[in-house]
Amino acid sequence: MNVVKIGVSDLKARPGDELEFKAQEKWSYLATATGNIPIVSPVRVGGTVTNTGKILLVKGQVATTLELTCDRCLEKYRYPIVAALEEEYAGAAAAQTVAGEEGEPVEVRPLEGDFIDLKPAVEEALILALPMKWLCREICRGLCPHCGQNLNEGQCQCDTRPVDPRLAVLGELLRKREGEN
Ligand SMILES: [Zn+2]
Ligand SMILES: [Zn+2]
Repeated sequence: MNVVKIGVSDLKARPGDELEFKAQEKWSYLATATGNIPIVSPVRVGGTVTNTGKILLVKGQVATTLELTCDRCLEKYRYPIVAALEEEYAGAAAAQTVAGEEGEPVEVRPLEGDFIDLKPAVEEALILALPMKWLCREICRGLCPHCGQNLNEGQCQCDTRPVDPRLAVLGELLRKREGEN
């Protein structure tokens, strides 16, 4: 697995300057707290890095396609995902002196020498953009609780109609008679 890296040796020396970046890489999966999610198209990133004088500000976007598993029918499906990137980077020394507006510590990511390693930020942005519910389609009919048939592919033979108790008795009688014949 490669790493999305942006060379910033020139930019670091020029406060106020800006650098555009655009890259794509193949990642096989996105590691999350609950497991690895397969990634099925290149991870595309693009945006700008601005030298604000204090820090290097990255603003951009990441897009790719994940393979999720539907919560209801358990089928795999492709999920195109787009997430915004906004990150601050600084050398180790500078990172400690940068504080937020209200004194809140802002997370400033460390520079790796003359490079910004975008991978951790990209991974976090994708994880934050994951949907709450994983559904293969807006109205997934799920699996039959009785036989496990995928109801998106067709109705099963199970009788899932709510049964009127009086009819249930009748049905029972009919079944008995059928059994006798
Ligand atoms: Zn589904
Ligand atoms: Zn069924």
